[in-house]
Amino acid sequence: MRVEDVKSSQQAIDLEHKHGAHNYHPLPAVLKKGEGVYVWDVEGKKYYDFLSAYSAVNQGHCHPRIVGAMTQQAETITLTSRAFHNNVLGVFEKYATEYFNFDKLLPMNTGAEAVETAIKICRKWAYEKKGIPETEAQIVVFENNFHGRTTTIISFSNDEGARKNFGPYTPGFIKIAYDDTASLEKVLQENKNIAGVLIEPIQGEAGVYTPQDSFIPEVKKLCNENNVLFMADEIQTGIARTGALLAVCGKCDCQGHCERQATYSRPDLLILGKALSGGAYPVSAVLADDEIMEVIQPGQHGSTFGGNPVAAAVAMEALEVVKDEKLAQNARALGELFREELNKFIETSTIVNLVRGRGLLNAIVINDSEDSSTAWDICMALKENGLLAKPTHGNIIRFAPPLVINKEQLLDCVSIIKKTLKQFEK
Ligand SMILES: *Cc1c(COP(=O)(O)O)cnc(C)c1O
Repeated sequence: MRVEDVKSSQQAIDLEHKHGAHNYHPLPAVLKKGEGVYVWDVEGKKYYDFLSAYSAVNQGHCHPRIVGAMTQQAETITLTSRAFHNNVLGVFEKYATEYFNFDKLLPMNTGAEAVETAIKICRKWAYEKKGIPETEAQIVVFENNFHGRTTTIISFSNDEGARKNFGPYTPGFIKIAYDDTASLEKVLQENKNIAGVLIEPIQGEAGVYTPQDSFIPEVKKLCNENNVLFMADEIQTGIARTGALLAVCGKCDCQGHCERQATYSRPDLLILGKALSGGAYPVSAVLADDEIMEVIQPGQHGSTFGGNPVAAAVAMEALEVVKDEKLAQNARALGELFREELNKFIETSTIVNLVRGRGLLNAIVINDSEDSSTAWDICMALKENGLLAKPTHGNIIRFAPPLVINKEQLLDCVSIIKKTLKQFEK
């Protein structure tokens, strides 16, 4: 069978159902083409993409510059492994470390691998630099976190589905309430073996849970005071999504020069993935300064594909596009407009309780019980009306279009969303 033989969406869904593991519950949209903010299904129906592959496609689908960098590199050399050098990796590392203002970068492929990498660096730093007795290091994490799907990472999840029957679990994590500085202060006081704090600046999967503006700067300050590494998982929030280069930039408008801003909560370990490649290729990375990164020596960590020339070429172009097309400013301006429009709608709505988020990472909270199917049903109706979005935990729908969206398109989407929600008014 060939891909050309797939003539209908149902046929594609049936194939996946029969031959693939059932580890996802997708909306029944079968996409075969993407360009900018749009995707098309097998039948040729056009949609606005309001998920952007969980914020991987910030630069828009099939961005010609990113595709160009990828195909050009793919025709030259794709994989050398790190047993040898390649002529692209160092150029990318120089570019990305200057872009984010860190001394060094460690390249991986997926987000979960980058989180694992940060955890490993943090523990090694704790034993070799901070002097915590070996195997005693603890890492603080937060309720309702999402950091990926590896055995270690799901060990500190409190999502039943992600965790249950995958034990035994990796020890060494302490879970506390999110957006609660007092809990962090307390645990740092009580436990002297804490090596790091791993945090999402906004909890995307938990439903775009956006903490108070003071929270992340307070976490950073407490980490500093206690000689604990501040590890920011910016896999979903980073790279212009929230209207700044990184969500830890807060609300400054410095376009990658956050180090000069008082509001910047600079991470000790910055974790990136998703939009680092604009969704063209799996690329992730951890960035840190020398005195932390130097704990990793040859043979102690790696990945066959990590830092391959295609990944390096793609990521460099993807970051350049973010800067050239001023995607952070666009996300900031259009995000404000989006929330303003939806807030007007909510004033008289019985079906939506709340809109929250920052930049173009937003969500609405549906006025129905957590276990009702209302959010799913709304997403199905949005699909009919030409817009793709997906429910997150509880009765919450995330809205995260590619950041290349323009004002006219955004207002068109707002009217699709309003029209659809009206069908569900009680
Ligand atoms: C998506 C995501 C991950 C995991 O990335 P994968 O590439 O799916 O492994 C980790 N942390 C956050 C915050 C994410 O959104």
